[in-house]
Amino acid sequence: MLVVMKPHATPAEVEAVVEKIRGMGLTPHAIPGAQRVAIGVTGNKGAVEPGPFTALPGVADCIRVSQPFKLVSREVKEEDTVIDVGGVKLGGPSIVVMAGPCSVESKEQLLEAAHGVKKLGARFLRGGAWKPRTSPYEFQGMGEEGLKLLALAREQTGLQVVTEVMDPETLPLCVEYADVLQIGARNMQNFSLLKRLGTVNKPVLLKRGPSATLREWLMAAEYVVAHGNYQVALCERGIRTFETMTRNTLDLNAVPVLKALTHLPVVVDPSHGIGLRRHVPAMARAGIAAGADAIIVEVHPRPECALSDGQQSLDLAEFGALMTQVKVIAGAIGRPVA
Ligand code: PEP
Ligand code: MN
Repeated sequence: MLVVMKPHATPAEVEAVVEKIRGMGLTPHAIPGAQRVAIGVTGNKGAVEPGPFTALPGVADCIRVSQPFKLVSREVKEEDTVIDVGGVKLGGPSIVVMAGPCSVESKEQLLEAAHGVKKLGARFLRGGAWKPRTSPYEFQGMGEEGLKLLALAREQTGLQVVTEVMDPETLPLCVEYADVLQIGARNMQNFSLLKRLGTVNKPVLLKRGPSATLREWLMAAEYVVAHGNYQVALCERGIRTFETMTRNTLDLNAVPVLKALTHLPVVVDPSHGIGLRRHVPAMARAGIAAGADAIIVEVHPRPECALSDGQQSLDLAEFGALMTQVKVIAGAIGRPVA
């Protein structure tokens, strides 16, 4: 249930509602909005009776939330969630571009990629320090050394750093070095990891599981938010279908559907979505046209030498050409590029 406070409800009135919810053994989640505060109620088994709340001073309304995902739903919070990452606003009017290599491979590689994408207009640097590889014999990432290089690249370029957290063990290190914590597709339903992410004060980029429905994905986001971290963005990265010509099938249906269902920012990853370098720009453009708030693109100074995902990585010249197109598409739908 959602308890909606009157626009001028006092902090004491909000607190009284929060206490009332706690007193019933339930969990209150105060959600500040531009017009008014709303308080989400979770922890109930059946329906919550609105009676005890409607009588309290400052309460405007009690609304039943029909979706199984509560706190991430538009029913609970109408306005878009805007995540401020070091001054770059994700989920606001501007389109944000995140770019960088699949994996951090060396100081030279990362710094060349970072300076390159920065110059061309990216605001975030992506790069994995721990890599979830299908084969145990493939490059597994540089680990903490990779995180240190990402931090160095941030220092030199001012880019915000997004990197994948693979497990609870390395979470504290990632929190220390990164600006945004990426949860990979394979970990979307790693519920113990999601709960831990709820307790950290860093934004989370939650990628869609390769066979997750939108509902399962939103429920995964709900785990993070219900455990206290409201800074979650969703990243569509392609799902597994019967098609074999492309690595995955980028489900662009997800973008407008999610924007209607949730207030969380939506990001599109065309690189993993299609998996083919020559077609990545088309899907990046399509993602923006479909309404994504950001794109995350794999870029490598020498894709043919990449230790992971070279086949879907753009080189810097290709990324530059894409940035020109991104501005045109963003402009066509009335959005600036951050
Ligand atoms: C990645 O971003 O390099 C990655 C491994 O992505 P995903 O989890 O979407 O496969
Ligand atoms: Mn990759």
